[in-house]
Amino acid sequence: MAQYGQQTVVVVQQPSFGEAPVQTTCPNCHNTVVTTVDKKAGLFAYLMALIICLLFCPCFWIPLVIDSCKDTEHTCPSCNAQLGTNKRL
Ligand SMILES: [Zn+2]
Repeated sequence: MAQYGQQTVVVVQQPSFGEAPVQTTCPNCHNTVVTTVDKKAGLFAYLMALIICLLFCPCFWIPLVIDSCKDTEHTCPSCNAQLGTNKRL
């Protein structure tokens, strides 16, 4: 039974964090924010770098600078809390 007049715990349904910024409620500062996305070289980028290193040695750094090879990190613009990560692997 729902009880009115009491503070209810709002269960925030986490959106799926993808490549693009998403609107979510920050669990840290409880503001409704649009996440800031930051590209970070993750496992996928390093794995690609390793493969390219074996095949075309001088080009191994390319996956480390291409955004589509990187993980996407979502952070809250108001408190900078990390809200989620979209990993390539
Ligand atoms: Zn926040």
